[in-house]
Amino acid sequence: MIIFDPYELTLHTPNHFSFGGLDRDVISREKASCLDYVLENPETRIVPIWRSLNLFSNTVESGTPPVPAYLSIQDATDLIEIAKNQVYLGKQAVASTFISYLAIDISSLEEDEATNKLAPWGKFADLRDIGPLIGGIEGSILAYARGIMFWHNRNGYCGVCGTPTIATKGGHQRNCTKKGCACIHFPRTDPAVIMLVKDDDRVLLGRQKIWPDGLYSTLAGFVEPGETIEHAVAREVYEEAGIIVKNIIYQHSQPWPFPSSLMLGFTAEACTKKINLNDAELENAQWFTRSEMLNFETQEKYLPRKVSVSRRLIDDWLYER
Ligand SMILES: [Zn+2]
Repeated sequence: MIIFDPYELTLHTPNHFSFGGLDRDVISREKASCLDYVLENPETRIVPIWRSLNLFSNTVESGTPPVPAYLSIQDATDLIEIAKNQVYLGKQAVASTFISYLAIDISSLEEDEATNKLAPWGKFADLRDIGPLIGGIEGSILAYARGIMFWHNRNGYCGVCGTPTIATKGGHQRNCTKKGCACIHFPRTDPAVIMLVKDDDRVLLGRQKIWPDGLYSTLAGFVEPGETIEHAVAREVYEEAGIIVKNIIYQHSQPWPFPSSLMLGFTAEACTKKINLNDAELENAQWFTRSEMLNFETQEKYLPRKVSVSRRLIDDWLYER
């Protein structure tokens, strides 16, 4: 049972990585005994993270689809002791009980040690590669664990005074340990806009020089301080392609923990047509019609992976969903 049904939250079906179904249980995080309470639950699942990699019980090489691997508290006792950080992710009601999820960062282990210790349960791999092969729900829990551990690893020292920080609130906050500073640091998420710009029967796609040959995607960029998300859409499209847009409409979002973004998907209408690569971020931008895009393969072009917001925006337009 899940506390929020992602299919009822909005009119759009949820994106990959965005419907973990966990009750984040903020009330328990507030208690000083939060982690003890999680470790006392025999149903707790341990989610190990090693240097931003997640654990999977089947490997791509085995020919069987990978499955996220969780450990019991009993199996993970040694690992919990050496974990640099522990984060209570939340709980999931199952029948009359509930499963808690505790992410642990065991990056202090050397590669051989991590590989050998975890071998009975699985192998570490990059969620960016494995994500499309696993379900969106389980992928979401792994994405959450990876994202918050990334934040912990970059906030070990206070950004105000440089003193070491300590994790509190079940791993959802870091506090500066210097008296007189005591600054509180919260997990960061960087909002990024990603937009499909339409002009009647064609849309604007671009490609960066570093991308694999033939890959075309929607334009995207980070929101800047003091800016609305709609303004960010208009600015990025103008900077990257020289096109002025209007009627910007928010569609749906997706957590993207590579390393810490929240992707915000939009559609927009073009007011101008002439492409001008203003900031040299793209090596090419073009208008493509539906029929051109449906025959992309014959032109040795292809679209982003299906788990991405970019592909979702493109497919929704292409197939008029
Ligand atoms: Zn400080």
